Order: sequence, then structure tokens, then C-alpha cells
Amino acid sequence: ASFWQLASTSTKEKLLGGLLVPGFDERSCLSRYHSAFYRKTMARSPSAHLIKRLREHEALQRRCGPGTEAYRAAAARLRSGHRNNGTDGDSCKYLVLVPYRGLGNNILAVASAFLYALLTDRALLLDRETSLGDVLCEPFPGATWLLPQSFPIKNLQNLTGEVPESYRHLVRQSDGDAAGAAGAASRRSYVFVDLDHSCTYHDKLFFCDDERRFLRRAPWVLMRTDGYFVPALFLNPAYEGELHRLFPRKDAVFYLLAHYLFHPTNKVWGLITRFHDSYLKNSDDRLGIQVRVFDGDTPFQHILDQILACTSQENLLPEVVTQEPPPPAAAAAGGARRSKAVLMTGLSSWYYENIRWKYWQSATATGEAVSVYQPSHEEHQLSGYTTHDMKALAEMYLLGMTDRIVTSGWSTFGYVGHGLGGLTPWIMFRPENHTTPSPPCRRAKSMEPCMHGPPFYDCRTKHGADTGKLVPHVQHCEDMSWGLKLV
Ligand code: GDP
Repeated sequence: ASFWQLASTSTKEKLLGGLLVPGFDERSCLSRYHSAFYRKTMARSPSAHLIKRLREHEALQRRCGPGTEAYRAAAARLRSGHRNNGTDGDSCKYLVLVPYRGLGNNILAVASAFLYALLTDRALLLDRETSLGDVLCEPFPGATWLLPQSFPIKNLQNLTGEVPESYRHLVRQSDGDAAGAAGAASRRSYVFVDLDHSCTYHDKLFFCDDERRFLRRAPWVLMRTDGYFVPALFLNPAYEGELHRLFPRKDAVFYLLAHYLFHPTNKVWGLITRFHDSYLKNSDDRLGIQVRVFDGDTPFQHILDQILACTSQENLLPEVVTQEPPPPAAAAAGGARRSKAVLMTGLSSWYYENIRWKYWQSATATGEAVSVYQPSHEEHQLSGYTTHDMKALAEMYLLGMTDRIVTSGWSTFGYVGHGLGGLTPWIMFRPENHTTPSPPCRRAKSMEPCMHGPPFYDCRTKHGADTGKLVPHVQHCEDMSWGLKLV
């Protein structure tokens, strides 16, 4: 089938195999129902159980979200600092996510928080301090996921594990007494869960929580995280059965959640589709190369060497010849040469300039025509500025529209790019001491993002453990030895 499937896309494809519901206003968010036209077939299909649970969750967001009586009552209780009497079966519970750092971090945090909200029947609301509301459409029909400005707790970005409401304090006070902790949780007007990189052993006991049943009765959970914590949910026995029903294929979690949740707003969609139509659509083959440098914004020779070594060793880009080749045979002269589009992304344009020059200066050994493009070069990270974040989202999305992809290790930007595309990347290892690593890259085990700050604790045995060895589908990442990913 051709990449360009506009004519043949059926309603089922348009709704991404049942992930989406019809009925949204199409014009206000073109990407929602049009992204299928730009995609090869879905890399993974949603299970019937996931589809059912998504519909139930949408109903919950409508019943509990901002603008409802339930929300007004719950917010009023929070404002008055009321000790609540625990929640009964009917009342609404909430998860307020405070994402931070770059857009890739934010997107991984939202996907993780959404899955946690789905598992625990909480309405998900997003702090407005980020540009997420400017670059993404609302995912839930008839309900907003943006936290109202009037939310009683201000400066959510300043909350840390040190506040008295933190899960850390709750766990420490109760000292293993689950009933006591559940009582303590229900005496607080909210519980704050800190999953920052600097969080402690006690904060991370959150990942075993349901067993201890601390949070079950807390109507408001506020959470700070900048990353993908889904692998840790798969280690909690409380969620095991449900997660297995939701995701029979464990490597599909981010891919499916992202297709459900993340629909670029019309301005971002314009950036995506115009670039795609101008530079990617008509090539025979598309390669994405995501360059993320953590050692500073100036160009580094060892990183260029790494990109070239990786793409050569893995046969992702053709070799070049030093001699001018003979004129093409008559049959090939009429435009039958294969064309390869290379989409590069990065803050600097230096790597792109070098690779483009390589294929301009010399012919390829295969006779392929190689075109190299980079949508932007922002030079410095300026997260939170809408136009900057729009470009970042457009580029992550475009990376996902390629056929094969090389990413930079440790980068959440890269994880989102390959995860959205359903692509198993070649990951370039993070260089140490300004030296090209050997090998320069490696094919990943799955398309899933890596969790950077995992727990080191086994919920079952209640002891420290190597959490990459507990279940077959949660393993250590290629690019970060202590990280965890689903495979
Ligand atoms: P990470 O730092 O690589 O994990 O990814 P994040 O997305 O969380 O943060 C990096 C931020 O820097 C991005 O969100 C962008 O704002 C900016 N940035 C980094 N690389 C690129 C790039 O290739 N293109 C664009 N447009 N922005 C980038």
C-alpha cells in the first residue's frame, strides 16, 4: 500500500481502530481525524478492553471534570482545607499532573499520568503552567483536561516532596502500618506525589501503592513528574491483571496512549503537513535522525562521527564514492533512481549541514539520490515559549512519519518521536569524555520509551531488587543501564 492513503482510508482507520470516538468538531482540531491519512497502517491495534475502558474514562471525565457540580464540590472542599471523610463509591477522585522540563518530558508524563488515572478511576487534570494546552487539542469529548485557573492550590510548580501533604511524609509517619496510612491520607485535603529525579525511597513506594492502599481514599492526588513511569506500574501486582487485559502486547502502551491523547492543534498540524507534503511525501524511503546533545549547544565532531558511524554500520545511509560515477544507463535516466529523504532534527544545524554536504559533494555508491532536510535549528532550548514548543512537537511528530529512525540516547524528545511513529529506533549511546562511543548505536528492543528514575524495590517481597529482572516484559534500557522499559 502506498504511504499516501487518502482515498482508501475508511472510518475505522480514521478512528484509529476504535481508539477515537466520532463526534468532535473536525475543523477545530484537524489532526484528530486526519492523522490516519498521513500514516502507514497502525503499528499496534487497541484491544477491545482498552477501547471499553477509554469510553468509561471519557464518561468519568465528563461527570467529574471542571464545570460539573462534582468538581465544584470537590474544589470547595479542597479550598476549605476540609478533612474529608474519605470518598465513597460515587464521588469523584482527581489526579492533577504538574509536568515540567521540556516538551518531550511533558508528553511522557501526561501519557503515564493518564494510564495511572485510568487504572485508579481518577479524572486527569493538567496544570496550565506548560504550553501543552497551546500545542495539543483536548482528548476527551465534552470535557476539558485543563485545570481551571481558579484551582485553590496555587504555584503547583513549587510543590516538592518536602511539603507536609507529600506521600513521602505519609509513608514515613505510618511506618508500614497500612491502615494508619490510609487514615492519614483521608485526613489530608490532598496528597502530593513527587516523582522528580531527586525523589526518595519513600516517594517511590508510590509505585507499590495500591497494595498498601494509601491513596485509595484520597480525593485529590497532585503529582509532579517529568517522565515515563509506566514500566513501574507494570511491576505493581495490584495492576497486573488489568494491564494485561488492556495491553496484551506490552510494547504497545505508549504508541496507543499517544494516539489516543496527543492531537496537535491546527497551527502545529499545519507545520507538520506542509513539511511532510513538501519534503517527505514523494520519497521512496524516509530516514529520521534525531540529534540531541546534552554537553552544550556548540557543535561536536565526535557526535557527527557517531551519526555517520551509526548510519553506515547499520546500512541506514548509503556510502559515497570518490570518483564521479559513469552516466546512468538509459533506463535509469528517466527518473527511476531511488530517492531517500533524511529528516534531521536538532537545536544546531551543523550536523545537518555536514551530512547534506556529504551527499551533495559526492555520488552514492547505490545510485540513490539522498535529500537531507532539517525543519528548524532553534540553537537553544526555550521550553514554555509557544512557537518554540510548536516546532518541537511538529518535529517529534514528523520523526514519527519516517520509515526508520536513529535517536539520541537519554532524550525524551527522541522517545516521543519513535514512540509516536511505532518505530523501533537505532539508539545512539550517550558519549562520555567527548569521544564517539563504540559501538556508536544499537537497535532497541522495542518502540517503548525508557523510564529514567525507576524504583529499586520489589512490591511483592518488600525488599530492594533489580527491577529489570522481575518480569520478562520489563527490562533495562539500551541507553541507560538502570532505566526500565517495556518490551
Ligand atoms: P530531552 O531534553 O531531549 O529529554 O527532550 P525535551 O523535549 O524534554 O526537552 C528538550 C527541548 O529542547 C525540546 O522540548 C525543545 O524545546 C528543545 N529541542 C531539543 N531538540 C530539539 C529539536 O531537535 N528541535 C526543536 N525544535 N527543539 C528541540
